[in-house]
Amino acid sequence: MAEASSKQFYVGVDLGGTKILAGVFTPGLKIVATSKTSTKADRGPKAVLDRIGRTVRDAIDEADLDLKQIRSVGIGAPGSINPEEGKVIFSPNMPGWEDVALKKELEKILELPVFIENDCNACTLGVHAAELGAKYKSLFGIFLGTGIGGGLILDGRLHSGFNRTAGEIGHMVIEVGGPKCGCGNRGCFEALASRTAIFRRLELAVKDGQKTILTEMLGDDLTDLRSGDLRKALKKGDKLVEKVIEDAAEYTGIAVGNIINVINPECIVIGGGVIDALEDEMMSIIIETAKDYAMPGTAKGVEIVASRLGDHAGITGAAVLARENLKG
Ligand SMILES: [Zn+2]
Repeated sequence: MAEASSKQFYVGVDLGGTKILAGVFTPGLKIVATSKTSTKADRGPKAVLDRIGRTVRDAIDEADLDLKQIRSVGIGAPGSINPEEGKVIFSPNMPGWEDVALKKELEKILELPVFIENDCNACTLGVHAAELGAKYKSLFGIFLGTGIGGGLILDGRLHSGFNRTAGEIGHMVIEVGGPKCGCGNRGCFEALASRTAIFRRLELAVKDGQKTILTEMLGDDLTDLRSGDLRKALKKGDKLVEKVIEDAAEYTGIAVGNIINVINPECIVIGGGVIDALEDEMMSIIIETAKDYAMPGTAKGVEIVASRLGDHAGITGAAVLARENLKG
């Protein structure tokens, strides 16, 4: 055991619209402890900053460590982020988050170096460096959750693009004239295959009188539906859920095929809550569809894999960010 005064741990924070998750990590990126708090985004940036500070301290306390033993803190935040200036430029699901100096304010609160990045970029860093051991030079991460986000590693480094929006795979249009998306367009990948899109399709089908075991499990309005319920319904041979999940997997496969054609990375990794719950049911369809849509020869040797980091992808990636930024 190292002496108590040596700084050797990192903290990764996943700032979301509904919850803040913080994790304490060893230099080898093993989780020591975590802490979770609701974001209360409606109270505005100042209150949320205090809540982030508290969640970080709670995680450190949970790990039986002291603030002095932490080298730095990384944060993955939703929306448009400027990591160099340490600012959140805009965050659609968090009221008042315009031009917020997240890095500077938290450095004041915690008295530690803080580094920030877009949340999906952070997840991609986490999967690339911690889960896959940084063995791929180029990698695309897709995260299927409430929305759909992505991130891109090129030449072993995060590639954020000219306006720092690279990797926004959720808004690739996959079905022209398809369902309306939160961004204002129609037929975006996110409007077709996110958890929100899957749940919406099931709700509409139930309203339309279609039969599903889900209504026996949860009642007619499906308000408390979770990804895990879909898995249970599939195991019982629910035809409606099977069709909806197959379609979502196929849309994801089309997105993956497009990525193979445009970027041609060594690896495409798919994570997030939807895949966490439905990996067995979705991955083979995703891979098969991707190979159909990729041009002949382009998918050869490209790995298409599921991430097992689940909810911990964000905090792991944020810890990678903290560690990388302190390197020489
Ligand atoms: Zn969109």
